[in-house]
Amino acid sequence: MNVAAKHVLDRHGFHFQKKYGQNFLFDINLLDDIAASASVGRQDFVVEIGPGMGSLTARLAQRAKKVLAIEIDGNLIPILKETLADYDNIEILHADVMKIDLAQVIREFIGQSERETIEKKARKEQIIDEITDATCDPTREALPPVKFVANLPYYITTPIIMRLLEEGGAGAFSYDSITVMVQKEVAERMVCGPGSKDYGALSLAVQYYTKPQIVREVPAESFYPPPKVDSAVVHLAHYDKPPVEAADERLLFALIRASFNQRRKTLINGLFNGSGLAFSKEEYADILQTCGFPADIRGEKLSLADFAALTNEIYRRKA
Ligand code: SAM
Repeated sequence: MNVAAKHVLDRHGFHFQKKYGQNFLFDINLLDDIAASASVGRQDFVVEIGPGMGSLTARLAQRAKKVLAIEIDGNLIPILKETLADYDNIEILHADVMKIDLAQVIREFIGQSERETIEKKARKEQIIDEITDATCDPTREALPPVKFVANLPYYITTPIIMRLLEEGGAGAFSYDSITVMVQKEVAERMVCGPGSKDYGALSLAVQYYTKPQIVREVPAESFYPPPKVDSAVVHLAHYDKPPVEAADERLLFALIRASFNQRRKTLINGLFNGSGLAFSKEEYADILQTCGFPADIRGEKLSLADFAALTNEIYRRKA
């Protein structure tokens, strides 16, 4: 940690809280690299989860149109107000990201920003009377997509990613990409395919909604305090349309969950015990045969395309 940052934290009597996964970044090159790999530009609305003392937030604000920084720790709010005082395009929200209505928060964030832009323009052109609620209604449908960028707290990395993927996938909000620092092991789970020991429900969800890429690995010593594990920056580019066609997305993910809940069992047993569907083992054997899978195959051998084929066959038989 640099002297200036330590001075600010000490002055506010700040103590790092392990329960919030507080491992901060101070390396300017690394922070710039994260902002660059998110391809943040002047038109972008960025949502940062867990700004800490604002080192990444400042980097993002220098490139973006506007940044929303959501921080759970109330002790960091006065610190953020101080470290980010020079920026007029940052909104700080004191909240637990897992407990807020994220779609509503994003709508208000963008709506408010658009209102300010329209008001600024109107003031310049002296057409104040023309500002109506309809011209800047934050609840209207087509809001621009956001970019999520974060050095995520590791204790809730997977639930946060799953939330962004699922809610974004269901159209609750629109997003371009998710660029996040995560544990190296989680990054590997996101990008790997069938046959890898890391392959599982997270890999499939990430790869259904996005094209994932590990941007760079980051050693534990780059953080203060250093975590026990190494990390990696991943960039998840949101697909306009998933790479496979599944007749029913909920069914697809229910089948994936059932297959991986009992990893050591065959796919037939996993589906029979965990899918909640009323098929017998014999019917599952027939479904697998129709899909061209061996009868004793395990779920971990199926690719995303295989799971989509399985979903479509089960969907057809359920109808
Ligand atoms: N972005 C900062 C940096 O890179 O230096 C801090 C990253 S630190 C790994 C994670 C941050 O997320 C902390 O500031 C922590 O307080 C915050 N955080 C933890 N849980 C959170 C939650 N549920 N909602 C919002 N912020 C959270």
